[in-house]
Amino acid sequence: MYKVNDNYLKLPGSYLFSTIGKKVKAYAAAHPDRKIIRLGIGDVTQPLAPAIIKALHGAVDEMGDAATFRGYAPDLGYEFLRNAIADNDYRARGCDISADEIFISDGAKCDSGNIQEIFSTDNRIAVCDPVYPVYVDTNVMAGRTGTYDPQKETWSNVIYMPCTRENDFVPELPKETPDIIYLCFPNNPTGSAITGRQLQEWVDYANRVGAVIIYDAAYEAYISQENIPHSIYECQGAKTCAIELRSFSKNAGFTGVRLGFTVIPRELKAGEVSLHSLWARRHGTKYNGAPYIVQRAGEAVYSEEGKAQLRQQVAYYMKNAAYIYHGLKDAGYEVSGGVNAPYIWLRAPRGMSSWEFFDYLLEKANVVGTPGSGFGPSGETYFRLTAFGSYENTVEAVERIKAL
Ligand SMILES: *Cc1c(COP(=O)(O)O)cnc(C)c1O
Repeated sequence: MYKVNDNYLKLPGSYLFSTIGKKVKAYAAAHPDRKIIRLGIGDVTQPLAPAIIKALHGAVDEMGDAATFRGYAPDLGYEFLRNAIADNDYRARGCDISADEIFISDGAKCDSGNIQEIFSTDNRIAVCDPVYPVYVDTNVMAGRTGTYDPQKETWSNVIYMPCTRENDFVPELPKETPDIIYLCFPNNPTGSAITGRQLQEWVDYANRVGAVIIYDAAYEAYISQENIPHSIYECQGAKTCAIELRSFSKNAGFTGVRLGFTVIPRELKAGEVSLHSLWARRHGTKYNGAPYIVQRAGEAVYSEEGKAQLRQQVAYYMKNAAYIYHGLKDAGYEVSGGVNAPYIWLRAPRGMSSWEFFDYLLEKANVVGTPGSGFGPSGETYFRLTAFGSYENTVEAVERIKAL
């Protein structure tokens, strides 16, 4: 009799977005006249920029002509895209990353979930609390996290690093030594950023204790302040301890198009074993990468036209972020984020829990956000609003919250 991977049975189930969906649906059914504004889910809303559409059309036409048709892509991705990434995302920022250290993929969710496969199940992971759930859940599936405590909502073999207002939502070095450290900055859900000096401490720490950092930089394009690193490779010594994940989802609106990449420097080694060669083996054996058409669209992200258009797109969302941030601050809310990230993290007023505030906002303002407790125990009493809505809806939502 076959057996299933019973690690999957340990997963507590992701109630967050399904519970939100159910509550919103029930409210809408009971109050069909109300206009509900959704600032909850982390998905973009602006259409693809013209430079990207043009590249997509061009690549589609190439696929229809025997002279320019392309079949299987190179395992690690097309050179034209890897070169554009190396030049624009790395060399232009003084990071010595070459095209052959870049692995093209269909996104950072997949990479952040799959990357744990090249590590032993004996490794102990450390994650921020609150956290993007993929990092923990994929380690649960692999059997690396121990047992779940439903009371505390934590796993016995995971090191949690609280991110609270006391540490400005940047974790302190853990007391127990982890093997694999997941960091995401600018952060989802808190919208916080890490300074170059703070990130350097993490790099030094990882090199000292022999840990690897998996650095999720999906929100890099939203950085507006000078002292915030765009890549972990801006830090000295990062090439011997860090893997970086990037996505085209948030900077270029590719959530439905699908494109991302992972950087594994050649110097990154566990003893004598190169992580680059393990990940290359995985790509070659069981991964088909991203379509040619989509990789051409990704290349257009780095064209002069594309860059200018995407700067405007990011600015559109960040105008929303500023509107939410200042509006709520003026209304007396404790708010953070929104400066280097499209997320605003606010504290529920008057001692409400995250879910109490969710219900309150839904009923009194018809605005939907995300309860912070859904991202981990330290998220309790917090609440996430996203800047990914339309400007008009964002303004209306903030005005309604201010009027409460
Ligand atoms: C949105 C997001 C990503 C991007 O995932 P894709 O699979 O590339 O769409 C990665 N990490 C975090 C933390 C995110 O919020």
